[in-house]
Amino acid sequence: MSDLLKKYLTTDHSTRIQALRLDQAWQTGLAHQDLPPRVAGLLGELAAAAVLLASNIKFDGSVVLQLQGNGPVRLIMVECTADLALRATAHVQESAEIPDTTSLQSLLNPDGQGRFTVLLDPAGRQEGAAAYQGIVPLEGDTVAAALEYYMKHSEQLDTRLWLAADGTRCAGLLLQRMPGKTAADTSAADTADATWAHCQTLADTIQPAELLADTPDTLIHKLFWENDLLAFPDQAVRWHCPCTRERVADMLRSLGQAEIDSILAEQGHIHIACNFCGKPYEFDAVDCTSLFLKPADQLQAPGSDSIH
Ligand SMILES: [Zn+2]
Repeated sequence: MSDLLKKYLTTDHSTRIQALRLDQAWQTGLAHQDLPPRVAGLLGELAAAAVLLASNIKFDGSVVLQLQGNGPVRLIMVECTADLALRATAHVQESAEIPDTTSLQSLLNPDGQGRFTVLLDPAGRQEGAAAYQGIVPLEGDTVAAALEYYMKHSEQLDTRLWLAADGTRCAGLLLQRMPGKTAADTSAADTADATWAHCQTLADTIQPAELLADTPDTLIHKLFWENDLLAFPDQAVRWHCPCTRERVADMLRSLGQAEIDSILAEQGHIHIACNFCGKPYEFDAVDCTSLFLKPADQLQAPGSDSIH
């Protein structure tokens, strides 16, 4: 099975282990985005990280992760909801040449002003109400390192990530240290320290190619076969961008008929792509005419006896 997140806990309850691989959902997400392979790889790593983190949020809403900077890549952004609906996009400077070996820092952060932002956005948030936002400098040579830097500098739980992605798959492994129950219980704390160190040692043996090739089940078995783990139910992940033809139609309507007529006169039809997922929407002359037709029930003048 693909597009699944697997969650486990060590038997001493001290360390959370999560593994994820996306196939179909990732391919759907990239289908309309013409990204250089290196950028698709970074976007996939950030997508895997966002899903791994979103599965642990305790509210109905979403996690948004953003890498921003002034290099050939301006923005890499992923949003994942608590029920694991994912969307992701990247903005690349036009005409930028991006070799596969370009480092994360030179792609996004040549001037050292790059930022890594984490936004926790509750669903149905009132306009003007604050979402939680954490911003740190963009540090590290990988998406995992940038994220670990953020976690360390924002008093989050100790977290380690191993991420990998290409044009067809993205995958990740997360280890997170659970909050201790009582500081006084030193033997439990010692056990927890040992478990945390042991899990990291095992996970550090994994190569990116294995993360992409193995299913989460295989990966977990390969790494932790000597350890008893408590397993939780699988969680399915799906790609979802809320753009629809109707929303695009609303946007075109808001431009006004004169503007639409002038685009039609110039181009013969309107081609527009969602600026998040890149999905294309076509409106020909007939579609455009219908944008400005009033529903039949509104054609009648109020108080129709006054027509004469
Ligand atoms: Zn879209």
